[in-house]
Amino acid sequence: MNERMETNNPEATEALGEKLGREARAGQIYCLSGDLGVGKTVFTKGFAKGLGITEHVTSPTFAIVNEYEGRLPLYHFDVYRISCEEEMEDTGYEEYFYGDGVCIVEWGLMIEELLPDDCIFIEITKNTEKGFDYRRVSIKEGR
Ligand code: ADP
Ligand code: MG
Repeated sequence: MNERMETNNPEATEALGEKLGREARAGQIYCLSGDLGVGKTVFTKGFAKGLGITEHVTSPTFAIVNEYEGRLPLYHFDVYRISCEEEMEDTGYEEYFYGDGVCIVEWGLMIEELLPDDCIFIEITKNTEKGFDYRRVSIKEGR
């Protein structure tokens, strides 16, 4: 998997997330990167739908990780506030990363050294020249 896509509105980013959520397999870890407000949580909401999760998905900024039950369990991290490895260890992340669900890590590159090599890297970027709602989404499997 090494793809580049473009979306022109939030619905398209959500739909892309939903498609990937439908195809997701147990044990996968998705590292989401991109500036604040680029659409990482929008993508995750779609991904959760694709996993058959009906519960409302919100950004886990304060909780660090939220758990949802779907076709597979989804562990939704937002590590923006993590400032050291010890804080990450306190979340018990290894149980999630090496468990039987799927992990999505918003701001995942902030804990890059803790991510396994076979992680799926998704980067969302804006390009204001192409419009306010334009996003480029790159997906790369492995380092
Ligand atoms: P992040 O989690 O990356 O900080 P959010 O997903 O919370 O960002 O917010 C993204 C914001 O950008 C939302 O308000 C959404 O409506 C808006 N938006 C505009 N265009 C897009 C797009 N193409 N894809 C995703 N979100 C978009
Ligand atoms: Mg977010």
